[in-house]
This record gives sequence, structure tokens and C-alpha cells, in this order.
Amino acid sequence: MRHAVFKLFSKEPLHDPTADPAPGARRETKTTTCYMCACRCGIRVHLRDGKLRYIDGNPNHPINKGVICAKGSAGIMKQQSPARLTRPLLRKAGSERGAGEFEPISWARAFDILATRLATIRATDPRQFALFTGRDQMQALTGLFARQFGTPNYAAHGGFCSVNMAAGMIYTIGGSFWEFGGPDLERAKLFVMIGTAEDHHSNPLKIAIGDFKRRGGRFISINPVRTGYSAIADEWIPIRPGTDGALFMALLHELIASDLVDHAFLKRYTNAPQLVVLDEGEREGMFAHDPDPGKGPPGDGRHPHNKLIYDTASRTIKAAYPEGIEEGCDPALAGTYALADGTRVAPSFQLLRDRVAPCTPEWATAITGIDADRIRKLAGELGDTALQQAFELPIAWTDAWGTRHATTQARPVAFHAMRGLAAHSNGFQTVRALAVLMSVLGTIDRPGGFRHKAPYPRHIVPNFRAFNSPDMIQPNTPLNAAPLGFPANPDELAIEADGTPMRIDHAFSWEHPLSAHGLMHTVITNATRGDPYRLDTLLIFMSNMAWNSTMNTVAVREMLNRRNADGEHEIPFLVVCDAFQSETVAFADLVLPDTTYLERHDVMSMLDRPISEFDGPADSVRVPVLPPTGECKPFQEVIVELASRLKLPAFTTAEGTRKFKDYPDFVVNFEPQPGIGFLMGWRGKDGDQHLRGAPNPKQWEMYANNDCVFHLKLPETMHYMRNWNREYLDFAKDKGWRQKNDVVQLALYSDTLQSFRLAAQGKTAGRRPPEHLRERIATYFDPLPFWYAPLEDAVTDRAAYPLAAITQRPMAMYHAWDSQNAWLRQIHSHNYLHVNPVTARAAGIADGGWCWVESRWGRVRCMLRCSEAVEPGTVWTWNAIGKGEGAWHLAPGADEARKGFLLNHLISDELPTDNGPISNSDPVTGQAGWYDVRVRIRPAGPDEPAETSPRFAAAAE
Ligand code: SF4
Repeated sequence: MRHAVFKLFSKEPLHDPTADPAPGARRETKTTTCYMCACRCGIRVHLRDGKLRYIDGNPNHPINKGVICAKGSAGIMKQQSPARLTRPLLRKAGSERGAGEFEPISWARAFDILATRLATIRATDPRQFALFTGRDQMQALTGLFARQFGTPNYAAHGGFCSVNMAAGMIYTIGGSFWEFGGPDLERAKLFVMIGTAEDHHSNPLKIAIGDFKRRGGRFISINPVRTGYSAIADEWIPIRPGTDGALFMALLHELIASDLVDHAFLKRYTNAPQLVVLDEGEREGMFAHDPDPGKGPPGDGRHPHNKLIYDTASRTIKAAYPEGIEEGCDPALAGTYALADGTRVAPSFQLLRDRVAPCTPEWATAITGIDADRIRKLAGELGDTALQQAFELPIAWTDAWGTRHATTQARPVAFHAMRGLAAHSNGFQTVRALAVLMSVLGTIDRPGGFRHKAPYPRHIVPNFRAFNSPDMIQPNTPLNAAPLGFPANPDELAIEADGTPMRIDHAFSWEHPLSAHGLMHTVITNATRGDPYRLDTLLIFMSNMAWNSTMNTVAVREMLNRRNADGEHEIPFLVVCDAFQSETVAFADLVLPDTTYLERHDVMSMLDRPISEFDGPADSVRVPVLPPTGECKPFQEVIVELASRLKLPAFTTAEGTRKFKDYPDFVVNFEPQPGIGFLMGWRGKDGDQHLRGAPNPKQWEMYANNDCVFHLKLPETMHYMRNWNREYLDFAKDKGWRQKNDVVQLALYSDTLQSFRLAAQGKTAGRRPPEHLRERIATYFDPLPFWYAPLEDAVTDRAAYPLAAITQRPMAMYHAWDSQNAWLRQIHSHNYLHVNPVTARAAGIADGGWCWVESRWGRVRCMLRCSEAVEPGTVWTWNAIGKGEGAWHLAPGADEARKGFLLNHLISDELPTDNGPISNSDPVTGQAGWYDVRVRIRPAGPDEPAETSPRFAAAAE
């Protein structure tokens, strides 16, 4: 102190910021990939004497170009979190699940316990092992493990996240937002973001929106809440939750009525002109076809070719390909016609026109709360920008039928959407409606519109079929199809002969036929109930199923600990692998401590979820920049070790020995097809081949020396129109991204959906839904998009529960991951219920006051914050800020457990029906209906404690 005072009067600086604080220290900077959220930015990790000092963005990385967010730079505090798990743990004999009482064990013992148990299951009934993973980025590995094990009971978190977005778009345009496509803001003039706040594609979208605004682009945000990116929108259009589909239908109504549609695009690149059978019978609603056997099977989701159009130039019915697209042919988009045998048919666009005819802006106003004139104006803006402000790029390309186009046409209207649309039980058809809206404007894979990213576009329907027969599940035998896929018709469902689901989560059953990502949110309920059978071992990786990753949290926690009449747990063995002491860890029988993202190898693979850009494929890796903490082991290593011990064929040599030393060795040498591996860069013995080539023993080193990323820029001739771009389609097939080089015609009308409807109506031979699900399938498997009220509305008194309740992801935290992060907790240590002042006043609750939020299913006490940035019929809060007492190593009485709250307590995981409960999910895809819940609010009593309710007993440390 004396020294400092003395220095005050000296000429020496008090502190020299340029001085080396640790002269002689060893300094290193290593590059790897961030995992503080799912965006996968490139980062530089700065070390001093091997210790982590700070993290910044990597300027050479194509995703973030050096930008880093608060979460990314706070990775240092994740690394040093006191909540880290550091040793394998076994639940103490006699202790209750949830109490969190464990004894440390060695990895040798942990592997012995697990491998012995799994070997017995695999030799008897492989279905009794279920592997469900959370927000991981290694589904190519975990999916392979499940398939090789022989269990169908595998999925990641997509069913409770955004499968409606993925499936709704992929079944319509062959691609989806985020990893597989996105808005081309570099060339767009109008950007409409709907149902998105803060996003997966975080830094790149921020950079792109900033540049877009600087170029003078117009940004409209449509959302019940104005948070996240909407802060810089030119206009915020508030909308009621779950009603976006009605807005899209009204916009389609206006665009079609005003003839603001891209006729040429619709005729050539979509199924809009293809003729649909109108007569009753087994082909009703399917595409008409030429019965000549030489023309191939009738066109359907798997066989796109044999379809018909009506040519208005020659006034004849023609094959859709190739005659229907020949010079001089003008396929009809309207009218009804008759085939030679008298069958009545109509272009599918006529059916769409009929469908949207009653969906006027006034009709939509009553549903969405958006003024009819504003809807009309928005339709005009969309149509005008797409069609009148269009321009050409001097980029030549050749279409799938050999026609050379001298330029590429831009359609400068870009959309972006995500979970706000998806997380409703009407989300699939809502997303379909958005994809159809984008298609009629001609914005698909064109400059300024939506653009694909490799390996997309996929075929519609993608050629990934899930297993579909009970015979495929045999002891000690891999499944002969993947556990997950994209069904194209009822024959591809995973059901028993009597229609019973074959999977524990009921995915690919008549309950949720197109559940491409599985239904993780149903596993615990179904397994506890033994529906359709009992499990033995449930392995959960990186998902907080006893807290924020589950609906109806209180009941799920009880189920995890439920015992049968013999005193055995209904789910006999629960294994949890995580890096942190989450609420779910406390319920485990066996805990496996994972590493952090800074301590392990990881791949963002083309076989899974790559980081491709619009201009070409890209994948990336993580490499360890720090040694594992304690005895932590990467989950990938656990999987490779278990697969080797169980002698799963893909992990075992012909001589019966272990094939891969460890996970890095697996990544380099495993090839699902000759020349194709988990990583596509630097292949070939010497690393001089890309995309396809023999394994390269130095591949990891080459990625590490190249900022951990491989990005191949394709020639401009392959940048656009990739659904129909001959050069790209051939290239994609050659590189193994697609099985065929077929065109991907946009499915405005879905014959896939119609095939399920026909089965439900009893009009086709073959598989039919059980009686109690027929009406459900016939209603929701509509081949054209439509809006219906979320299913919860039918079982809830809207007058008693007049408000919608939703959550938003905070910018500073990624779900539950950061509750233990000392820096980020300073931004959010507890959450509020955000309510419009008008609504709060009407309920008699003051800003900052305690209140009760009640739904039909439960109630929560929390603090209210008035906000103009929410429409009056909606209340909302940040997701996953509230925490269980004692979890995440939080101090007793921490804000997160005392003042923070979880909205999940208000949401039911099931809805009642006359035939018993059914998952509270989209009837098409099984997407969890998180945002459908209806609530009311009232002030907390003056004598009630100023803390949240419900609260839970603390788990042991
Ligand atoms: S956006 Fe996500 S991946 Fe990128 S720096 Fe932030 S936390 Fe990391």
C-alpha cells in the first residue's frame, strides 16, 4: 500500500498494461471448436504454462470469422467449474435415486459393470437397452453403436427440440434451416424472421444480420416476444403463440389471389402442376401415373418419375418428365381434367388454391391477433420483393434435364424460423406452410432466398429408412437398418403386426409416424409403464431429464425412482454420463464423468451435423487443448470401449480382436462406405485427397494445423438451384452424400402424407392404424398444409386459462449448461415471468411482485417483470435458469434454486384421450408441444414466502 501511495507521486505508471505479467512463462495458442452452445465457432485457446488463460474467436474460421460471444469467452469458467464430475460413481447400496449418494469407483469397475450387463441384454433381448443422448454432436457414432448393438431404442434430443422444423422442411423442400440451409442475407432485400429469438446459428446470424442492415436491408421480426435478434428489427409484428400457420395460410391466400407467385418456378421445379387423382379409391389424392409398366411404378415419395401434367399448349395430358418440361410445353396450374380412362384429376396447385381460398386475412386476424391490413401489406411486400425486385447473377448452370441457363435468377426474400414454429403440436403443418410459402415465391436455393448447405438437399423423401420389422431385432445381431430414418409410407413404420410400437418411445408408430428424431421426452414415462415393454438399462448422455429437458418434471422425477411390487426400480438400471453434476446425475445408478469440450477429440461430421457453408461443404473437429480433469473420459471413448468389449462387428476385426485403439483411431479408420469416413478433409494415405479417399493416419494432425476446419469451396456453377443442378447432383452422388442423382422437386403437395391418410381411411390394402388412431391420422396427415389449434386447446378451458406461456433461450446461457458458470451466472442468476403491463395490471400484480402461474397441470410461484416487449396474451421466461437445490454445485439458497423457476412444472408430458393418455406432441412427428400450455396468473398472498415453489430437497454433494 505504502508502495502504491509512493508511486502515485512518482513518474512511473501505477500499472503498465503492456508489461509481461509472467516473464519467462511458456505461452501457447491452440485452435479448436467452441461448444458453449451448438453453433460451433472456431476459437483460440490461450495457455500460459499449460494453464487456460483466456479464449477468443478464431479470425480464420468460416463460421464466426473471429467473433466470440459471452458464452464462448466464459468457457474458462466451465473448465474450472466446481460442479465438474471427476470420477465414476456408483449409487450407494440402499440409497434412494435422487438423493445423490454415491461411492467413487474405478473405470475398470464401471466398464465391467456396464459391459457385463449390456452383453447379457444383447444376447437375450437387445431392445432392453436404450441409449438417448442430449445436445451432443456425435450422433453418427452413438447411432452406429445402437445399430450395431441391435437396439431400436436410440435417439438424440431432436424430438423435444425442433424435429418439426427439420421434418416439415425436408419433406417439402429437401432441406432445412441451420446446419442444412439458411437465409442468404448477403443478397436478400427483405428478411422475415419468425419464431426465432436467439438461435443455434448464433454468431454467423448476428454477423449476417448486421451486414444485411448496413446494406439497407429490411428486417421484419414476427414473434410473440421481442427478444434476441428482434432488438434490431425494423419492425416487430407480435403474434399469438401457435398461430404462425394461420398467418402463412393467409399470406398464401393473398399471394395466390393477387397472382404474386413465381409461375415458371412452380411449373418446372415443384410438383404444383402434377395431376392428383380426385376420384375416390385407393389412388385418391395420390399423383396420377401412366399405367404402362415400362414407365415405372406410380410416382410417390420414393419414386418421383412417373407422374402426369396437363399441357395447356397442346391441350393434352403428358408425362411430367421429360415431356412436361420440354420447350413449348405449358403445364397447367389450375383447372380439373380427365385422364383417358375418365379418372378426374387436377394439378396439385389447384388443390392448394382451393385450400387457401377461405384463409383470408380477416380469418387469420381472429387467430393470430395481427391486423388484416398488416397481413395484406406483408403479402404485398413479400411478393413485390421476390418478383419485382428480382435480379440476375451472371452465373451459368445446367439443370437436371440438360438445359443450360446463362444466368441465375435471384429472389431476394429470405426467411428464418426455428423453435417458435416447431415446438407446438401443430408445428409440422405450420412449417410445411412456411416451406410452401417460400416455394411459391420461388426463393428456394436462389440468391437472396433460402440456400442449402451440403450434404443437402436430400431426396424427398430422404433415402434413410428406419428399421420397420420386428424380425430385424435379434440377439447378438446388428439392426439391418438405422434406428432413425424418414418413412415414406405406412410400410416403413416400426410397428408389430398388430400395430403396437416397436420402440420404447413409440417413434415411427401410428402415434407419431414421421418421428425422424425419435421422442426422447416419452422414454421415462413409457419405460416406467412398460409400454410397450420394459427396459433393463437406460443410458442417458448429456441430457437433464430430471429437470429442464423434460415436461412435467415433478412426475418424471418420481418415475425415475418408482419401484414395482418386488421393490425393484421400474427402470432397473440408469446410467448417466455428463461432465457436470446436473439434477439428473443424482438419480443415476452409475455415473460416468465426461470431459469438457476443451479436453477431447470431437468431429462435426458430414455423416451427422457438419458446418457446411452455402458455397461448399465444411466439417470441423475439436482437439484436446487441455488434459482431462481428474479421471474424466470422453463419452466417445466410452462408446468405443464398450463396443470393443461387446465385440460389435464394426468395432471388431475378422480375428475377433479390437479394431480401434481409441476414438481418434476410429475416426481416422472407420469407413461406412469405401473412401468415406467421419472426416472428409485430407483423406488418402498422404492427405492429398478430399471428400473421398483412403484413411490418412495424419488426418487429425492436418485438421489441427488448419484451424480444426476443412472447407471446400465449390465452383459458382454449383452454388444455386441444387435441387435441380445437374453438376451438383452428380457431384453429391459421387461423394456419397446422396444415393441417387435424381432431381428434388419441391413437394407443395405431399403424397407421402396422403398415403398415411388413405391407410387411415381404409382405402388401401396393407397396414392400417388401430381403430382409435384412425381419425387422428386421417386429420393430421393432410397432403396440403393447414392450420389447426394446438391439441392442448381441446382439453383446456381457454376461458379459465386465457394466456399462452412460452420460454426463450437467453443469449448468455445455453439451456442448463451454464448454471455453474461463475461469469454467466452474474448475468442471469434467476429469472422472471415477463408479462405485458396491461395483463399484469388486470391481474393485480405489481412489477417485481411475486405471483402464481397456474395451468391445468400444475402451478409455479415466481417473480413478475412488466415488459412492453411481449404481446398481451402471452407470458414468458428464460429457459432453464431455475435449478434444483444442491445441483450444479450451487451454494445452499442460491438464487437459481430460491428465486429462479422452471416453467416445465406447468406442462404435461401427456394429454388425456378416450383411449388413455398420449404424448403431448405433434401427431405427425412427435415433436414435444412445449409452447402449447395455457395459463393464468394471480398475485401471491402477502404471507407467502418470497421464494419459488415448487422446491426440492437438496441432493447430496
Ligand atoms: S455462439 Fe456458441 S459456439 Fe459461438 S462462441 Fe458463442 S457459445 Fe461458442
